[in-house]
Amino acid sequence: MTEATGIVGEFLSLKEGTDADVLAMQCGDFYEFFAEDAEIVADELDLKVSQKSSHGSSYPMAGVPIDDLTPYLKALVERGYRVAVADQYETESGHAREIVRVVTPGTLLETTDTDAQYLAAVVDAERLSSNGRGRGRSDEAGYGLAFADVTTGRFLVAEADDADAALTELYRFDPVEVLPGPAVRSADDLLTEIRERVDATLTLHETEAFAPKRAAHATREQFGRETVDRLSVGEATIAAAGAILSYVEETGAGVLASMTRIQGHHGDDHVTLDATTQRNLELTETMQGDSDGSLFATIDHTETSAGRRLLKEWLCRPRRSLETLERRQASVAALSSAALARDELQETLGAAADLERLASKATHGSADARDLQSVGETLAVLPAIAEIIASTPGLADSPLSEIVDQPDREVADELRATIEEAIVDDPPSTVTQGELFQRGYDDDLDAVIERHEDVREWLDGLAEREKRQHGLSHVTVDRNKTDGYYIQVGKSAADGVPDHYEEIKTLKNSKRFTTDELEDKEREILRLEERRGDLEYDLFEELRETVADRAELLQDVGRTLATIDVLASLATHAAENHWVEPDLHRGDRLEIEQGRHPVVEQTTEFVPNDVRLGPAATAASRERASGRTDQDRGFLVVTGPNMSGKSTYMRQVAAIVLLAQIGSFVPAKDAEIGLVDGIFTRVGALDELAQGRSTFMVEMSELSNILHAATEDSLVILDEVGRGTATYDGISIAWAATEYLHNEVQAKTLFATHYHELTGLAEKLPRVANVHVAADERDGDVTFLRTVRDGPTDRSYGIHVADLAGVPDPVVDRARDVLDRLREEKAIEAKGGGSNEPVQTVFDVSSGQFRGPANADGGEPSETRRSAEDRRSSGSERPADEPGDAIDPETAAVLEDIESIDVNTTPPVELIAKVQEWQEHLED
Ligand code: ADP
Ligand code: MG
Repeated sequence: MTEATGIVGEFLSLKEGTDADVLAMQCGDFYEFFAEDAEIVADELDLKVSQKSSHGSSYPMAGVPIDDLTPYLKALVERGYRVAVADQYETESGHAREIVRVVTPGTLLETTDTDAQYLAAVVDAERLSSNGRGRGRSDEAGYGLAFADVTTGRFLVAEADDADAALTELYRFDPVEVLPGPAVRSADDLLTEIRERVDATLTLHETEAFAPKRAAHATREQFGRETVDRLSVGEATIAAAGAILSYVEETGAGVLASMTRIQGHHGDDHVTLDATTQRNLELTETMQGDSDGSLFATIDHTETSAGRRLLKEWLCRPRRSLETLERRQASVAALSSAALARDELQETLGAAADLERLASKATHGSADARDLQSVGETLAVLPAIAEIIASTPGLADSPLSEIVDQPDREVADELRATIEEAIVDDPPSTVTQGELFQRGYDDDLDAVIERHEDVREWLDGLAEREKRQHGLSHVTVDRNKTDGYYIQVGKSAADGVPDHYEEIKTLKNSKRFTTDELEDKEREILRLEERRGDLEYDLFEELRETVADRAELLQDVGRTLATIDVLASLATHAAENHWVEPDLHRGDRLEIEQGRHPVVEQTTEFVPNDVRLGPAATAASRERASGRTDQDRGFLVVTGPNMSGKSTYMRQVAAIVLLAQIGSFVPAKDAEIGLVDGIFTRVGALDELAQGRSTFMVEMSELSNILHAATEDSLVILDEVGRGTATYDGISIAWAATEYLHNEVQAKTLFATHYHELTGLAEKLPRVANVHVAADERDGDVTFLRTVRDGPTDRSYGIHVADLAGVPDPVVDRARDVLDRLREEKAIEAKGGGSNEPVQTVFDVSSGQFRGPANADGGEPSETRRSAEDRRSSGSERPADEPGDAIDPETAAVLEDIESIDVNTTPPVELIAKVQEWQEHLED
């Protein structure tokens, strides 16, 4: 125990009993922080530190007034601290203090942020202990996850097959706090990934809370046995859910009652979007971490914070169900062509408050009269919205009418009426001082109010009456804290006051008096005020409970309004930006005519581009693909000079597919989109390195993830993959990945690369096609046309630029020569294309030798043409038995240099300098 006694001692011993980082302890009208905690808050929040001496020692102390705690709490929690709050309460022998809440990022109710604030738990199914009873399903694999938002009462569970999928779910929900299950704590890999990639506080909640039995009990208690059983999720998932419930209860947020529903989040319904993809596509923030410029910020025209939350949710969780999407589309279509009604809807929605949040506040007991009033006003928005929909023909026969009818409108209206009849127009923010309720709401209250008003009236008329009765001038009646009610008489008249006046104070120009009668009235009015305050507080609590009991209804209405808000927002964006309704289907075909990038088109004169993947169906597209036999193209190799628009083109395709799968219209002239089950993107490490983020290791592990996770129904976007390593390594990886994606995975793929070698694949692999972003080079000017055309690009572009830049002809010619030789000599064969594999010479960079002549005439492959397995396992390394010293070191050094240089990223001037350097070396 600690040596300090008194208040500091009490503080320190309370602190010892909690695992919170900081303790705020109520001392009268203040919350105080002592010792280390005082230093922390002083540092973080700019509070003044004073010294508190306690029995000979001195302790740092900082404090905030009781009513100001919330912003400080919020600020501390947002900085990642867990803050315990100890309240003071009266006892018979004075007062005592007790920790009533531990506020953590995931249990912070006082948030002003409109984003969802998820608390997550993740449990490893395989290593879940089942109390050794053997009742656990030990065959279960993967992870169970649960997510709760205490500010809205949302509660979801999800299952993941492996650590990557678990991470994807975590990333999708973007929790602020994560409770790793017992086994996850010791699984360093997953924990590290969570720590690095999910911006959340990690909290080690007591392991017993994860115990299957206890968790199952808690979950059934909360949501009902049947509901939980119907979810048919594994033990690990229930463990995660139970742990969250226990944590929410233990931290004392008091919102368990607002968690009325548990929902299964099934990955199967949703398009897989792994963490990297969400970041690459800049869904909610840009690569630089700004929210401006994200896809969300671009398309967001919502009116309410609940709508904003839902739109984000849709973007991060696109759907796969054609029915769901078509229903959303039908609503968006109806709304986009009903501009007036849409404006009206949006204006009406503008009056809606955040019902889900208010429901949670009501449950927690922190909602005040204004909050309840907003509940009532927001409930009134629902019928207004329904009316607009019903009276607009285009909307009335759209799915919107069903959506708006989903909550129980009758019950909602009853609750609205109750609140409307109860609360006065402009209620005060305190709920203990009365003046909250309207007349006619409660008879007892009415009687008190009436009596109160009578006395008030009597007091109001007192000054006049005294003047008249006693012939006094300059009389006023007023009230203050020290004197209570008094009659104030001007000095000149003060001597003429009647005998029953009792003087209580002399001021410069006047005297204050009281009378027995006035004192009686004063007592009565104080008694009435107290009575009114108490009565109204009781009534208010009752009303608040009535509202809290309807938490589920409020969530329904909130959800409905948010849904309409999002649909109207999508419609607005579509109408204002000439987006079209894509034709969705379950097939493979992806055809976008004159597609644009949804974000870039906002700020740029955008050049639209087409894309076609999958079997060509329409006559028009067959014509466009004139004469080609490879109608079924599933893999596009996208080439083009730097900055020509390759990345933008591919992201545009991904964004359009994603938008289509949230039910939105898309930036194109026409689009036909076969639904995908996942979108995977990977940007080469070099491009990402510029952002200081990634390493080649990460690039490769993510490529590996794609190769594992993508299916033939997925869309894969590879941008310069392989670029993060030396050229030959890079080409080899890109080449092999292409073959694998084409032959095995068969995903729809777009692969932008500066390795022109890869364009050769189109001839070898049936579903691979080349497209390039055209650039025009004329009269010494390079114009980026931004137009995507069929076929590979001109590969000597870099040298062409050198030429244009005025590099002397001999150098340019020589460079072409060098490049041609490099290209010819390191030709690579493609696997999996035709029946007989082409055999070509491989340039072994490490030995600096060309392995045998080009073997086109069917001669025996040279000994260096090892089997595919060999090549794969040994990479570009030279077999140990081969001579490494066949050429002189000078030449070897040059060759090594040539190998390591990246023609596409090295500025032409530098290239030229290099070539000169090589020539000099070779002459030596
Ligand atoms: P790459 O990946 O080929 O190096 P990017 O896709 O990064 O090129 O595009 C380079 C620049 O060109 C970007 O600033 C982008 O905004 C612009 N851009 C790309 N495509 C288009 C287009 N279709 N219309 C207009 N500008 C475009
Ligand atoms: Mg690029």
